[in-house]
Amino acid sequence: MKEFRGTRGVLPETRFWDKVKKTDSCWLWLATLNKDGYGRFNVQGRSIYAHRWAWEQENGPIPEGMELDHECTTTSCVRTAHLSMVTGKENIFRQHQKQRCNYRLVVPLENCVF
Ligand SMILES: [Zn+2]
Repeated sequence: MKEFRGTRGVLPETRFWDKVKKTDSCWLWLATLNKDGYGRFNVQGRSIYAHRWAWEQENGPIPEGMELDHECTTTSCVRTAHLSMVTGKENIFRQHQKQRCNYRLVVPLENCVF
């Protein structure tokens, strides 16, 4: 059956989940990714981060200055259970922490998620 794929009359939710592949762990964004591997989703004439869109459907708008951290470290993942809301500062700290973990600079390593 041929599906109507125009952007008019099709709910953003429908368009969004059409582009997602759910695996046992991550829900992967199959459409446009930016250079850092984050999904981009076009809605209401704007291009926004796919994982932020998914989060906002469930939790409401993300307050100014807050960011979403991928606990799973898969940047194209849009599964809200894998995201946590942090301040921009905390996000940078966590990125550094992950790098330190990757280089085995953190002791004890139990604090690292691989
Ligand atoms: Zn994930």
